[in-house]
Amino acid sequence: MVPTAAGGEGCRVLVVDEDPVQVERLLRRGQLTCPGCSDRAAGWGHARPRRVRDCFGAVLRLRPRRVRCVDCSATHVLLPEMVLPRRADASRVVGAGLVDDTRRRKV
Ligand SMILES: [Zn+2]
Repeated sequence: MVPTAAGGEGCRVLVVDEDPVQVERLLRRGQLTCPGCSDRAAGWGHARPRRVRDCFGAVLRLRPRRVRCVDCSATHVLLPEMVLPRRADASRVVGAGLVDDTRRRKV
């Protein structure tokens, strides 16, 4: 998956692959870029730990990777695609809720 910026203007989040090994590989190769200036983003520790509600009451515990742009020094959090920025529910939970809501409106 190609990393994409999320969150609109002033965003500080990049959505990346769910596989942390793949994300580290991209970082080592300099293939993650800053959404602000497109220069290389380098690993810079981790963001705060997060708990995200998943299907059937499961809770995902994440500690997303953080990067810093080598040019503009902006920091960005790398969120795996299974979660959404600023949401406490996993993306598949949000998606299922939207499908249910759409079905209810059609009846
Ligand atoms: Zn930058």
